[in-house]
Amino acid sequence: MVIRDKIGYKCEICLLHYRDEVDAKACEDWDRAHEACNLEIARRSLEASKEA
Ligand SMILES: [Zn+2]
Repeated sequence: MVIRDKIGYKCEICLLHYRDEVDAKACEDWDRAHEACNLEIARRSLEASKEA
């Protein structure tokens, strides 16, 4: 379940934050199905863009 917090939308499984709920949901669906992060999705996370 995607969690809304003060940073953004959080994937409950890998705990990355996204600005768009759609991205957070996509991340979570992928994590659940593959038990690993999808780098293409994780790259859109707020954590990843901070480092960019
Ligand atoms: Zn995730």
